[in-house]
Amino acid sequence: MPIRPLDLDTAFCLIGGAWGAPLSNETLPLINPSVGETLCDIAKGGAEDVDAAVCAARAALQGPWARFSAAERGRLLYRIGELVLDNADLLARVEAMDVGKPLKQARIDVIALARYMEFYAGAADKLHGHTIPYMDGYTVYTLREPHGVTGHIIPWNYPMQIIGRSIGAALAMGNTCVLKPAEEACLTALAFGELARRAGLPDGVLNIVPGLGGEAGAALAGHSDVDHLSFTGSVAVGRQVQQAAGEHVVPVTLELGGKSPQIVFDDADLDAALPFLVNAGIQNAGQTCSASSRILVQRGVYDQVVAAMTDRYHNLKVGAAMDDLDLGPLISDRQKQTVETFIKQAEDLQIAAQGTITAQAPKAGSYVRPTLFVDVPPDHALAQREIFGPVQVIIPFEGEADALAIANGTEYGLVASVWTCDGARQMRLARDLRAGQVFLNNYGAGGGVELPFGGRGLSGHGREKGFEALYGFSTLKTVAALHG
Ligand code: NAD
Repeated sequence: MPIRPLDLDTAFCLIGGAWGAPLSNETLPLINPSVGETLCDIAKGGAEDVDAAVCAARAALQGPWARFSAAERGRLLYRIGELVLDNADLLARVEAMDVGKPLKQARIDVIALARYMEFYAGAADKLHGHTIPYMDGYTVYTLREPHGVTGHIIPWNYPMQIIGRSIGAALAMGNTCVLKPAEEACLTALAFGELARRAGLPDGVLNIVPGLGGEAGAALAGHSDVDHLSFTGSVAVGRQVQQAAGEHVVPVTLELGGKSPQIVFDDADLDAALPFLVNAGIQNAGQTCSASSRILVQRGVYDQVVAAMTDRYHNLKVGAAMDDLDLGPLISDRQKQTVETFIKQAEDLQIAAQGTITAQAPKAGSYVRPTLFVDVPPDHALAQREIFGPVQVIIPFEGEADALAIANGTEYGLVASVWTCDGARQMRLARDLRAGQVFLNNYGAGGGVELPFGGRGLSGHGREKGFEALYGFSTLKTVAALHG
């Protein structure tokens, strides 16, 4: 029996407020990675569907949406958040099956989606323009305005969280949206579209076209009538999206990958640090852009940290999403092969420990044993390239300068964390680490929707989340009146 969240026909797109089949009538199978079986079929949207969605989004800018005050947009976002919470159990189960993430992690994502709606509901009427003192006889002020039609291309690893942060901020500022969810996992994106419709979002304000990246995704990135693009995904595709945006000279936000370090100094509170060191690497089976895949440890506590992390890895259990263990499967067999190839090719390195795939885990699921490598040279491929799976490397270091050079020594710059009781060192490293977020004596800060997020280098540019995102999802107009 195929899954139909909220009684949706999952083979449909949402365009102009109505669900309908893509023009080609073609579908794609959506695989449940815990069992390796088809969950349902989804629409294989193409360029014509994207074009229809962009037209609907353009038309909606002239409809009732244009007359919504900022406070009314906020109220509507809040209603969507309430519907998300009303359907929390359903959304969590659907996400767990679709992405393969343990149910408890999927539940966290639902709450985060609702929080994004609440946060941007409250923020919608808080971004003001300025008056600018100018020459005699002038009054000058600035207006914050929506870009217009915004395109959102998102990956499969945290669909609800990424929808929350990018669609939430875009709607708060009065834009209209075309969303292209990932072909590997898009059911909660469809459910979100339906909840937004039920909450009263006017037709065409949010349009959703599932489909392949090279077809629907490329069509959206290259569409000449899109005013702003938000892309979350791989570096390779991010480059293409930026080029496509460049053709039409539209702004683009790129939220790409990472190789994020945690730096543990000899004076760190190890009891506080240890749970974060492993959890930040294995959450969502390591398929997290801000996963901590590099653990840098000072010599004085090196053996102690290796022993504690090894112990934890020996106890990690991997199984079906609904079994709600430490890790679920990876998103696909293809991702599993990629991760296993990384592990195989690191024959020169020492594996300290691996977790266990439980006997109950279905044989056709895409499971990988979480793997901990020790004594890894900082320039090794495993310490440089994003693996996007449950693989962590431990790298020893001598002093602060050494740690900083290693931490900053990749092409990425998404997040970083420092474990030390030395306040001056905390301040120096917070200043010098090349990253969009730095955590002192924690990692991730609970994911806070309030906290601006984004990268440097290959991790991308632009900021989403928090109040900061509202600047990215709006444009500024300066009005200069000469009145004498
Ligand atoms: P991906 O780049 O392959 O796909 C992401 C999205 O882009 C999907 O919707 C896909 O269909 C679409 N796409 C693919 N080809 C396209 C094209 N030619 N034109 C337009 N769109 C296209 O990424 P992935 O492998 O699905 O996701 C994993 C990557 O995403 C990792 O590198 C991860 O670090 C990154 N990521 C980053 C963040 C962040 O916030 N920085 C969050 C989650 C994931």
